[in-house]
Amino acid sequence: VLRVTRLSKSYGDTPVLHDINLDVRRAETLCLIGPSGSGKSTLLKCLNLLEKPQAGEIRLGETCLTAPHADVDAARARIGMVFQHFNLFPHMSVERNVTVALTSVKGMDREQARALARRHLDEVGLAAFAGQRPGRLSGGQQQRVAIARALAMEPELMLFDEATSALDPELVKDVLAVMRDLASGGMTMAVVTHEMGFAREAADRVAFMCDGRIAEIGTPDRIFERADHPRLRQFLSQVL
Ligand code: ATP
Ligand code: MG
Repeated sequence: VLRVTRLSKSYGDTPVLHDINLDVRRAETLCLIGPSGSGKSTLLKCLNLLEKPQAGEIRLGETCLTAPHADVDAARARIGMVFQHFNLFPHMSVERNVTVALTSVKGMDREQARALARRHLDEVGLAAFAGQRPGRLSGGQQQRVAIARALAMEPELMLFDEATSALDPELVKDVLAVMRDLASGGMTMAVVTHEMGFAREAADRVAFMCDGRIAEIGTPDRIFERADHPRLRQFLSQVL
């Protein structure tokens, strides 16, 4: 679904990503792990064209997102993104938060958008909260609304950047459960996470990033049980 070739990114004079090659296959869950500052968020932002890489190519299906005249808005509509901070609109109902992009970006009529929103809110277990303001929901519930909002756009690929890091520990599990269901339901996902349990159980492959490079990539078994890269071993000894 997604193919990244020789991607490099600098902020000013500081190189952050070096020559990244990466595929995310259809229906695959790829987890990205690695130390703070290794470039995980920057890589996701490049995939979503929130940051512009200096070199390299990103292809989503048949479309080259990094081509000079690529339609950035059209490409972004095909990629769902869930961040640490959910950025829901506080003055809109939960349902309206999910439908707003459907009506404004996709030009869907209001009733059709509502039906789709209900379906995805139901999928994340929040159909009963459709009429509430986000401020009345827990952090975990708000994050699930953000996931429903992204899903309602029917993306080909979902990107998650530490979707659970800002949550109280007891709220993390419901969000991870939703992500697990998505993964097993065949969604194509790239997930930056510090939740090694999730990476181990839900990922098809795990990529370890270090100093702006993918230092190692493989099955969870290979990454967690048979790591040979010294930096990976060191990282795992600190987080497990
Ligand atoms: P973390 O686990 O802490 O979220 P990360 O792997 O997501 O880390 P990035 O946020 O991608 O790391 O940052 C990679 C490097 O790029 C860091 O050295 C960071 O300081 C730098 N960086 C990130 N964003 C910017 C920016 N907007 N301007 C300049 N430098 C940046
Ligand atoms: Mg980050």
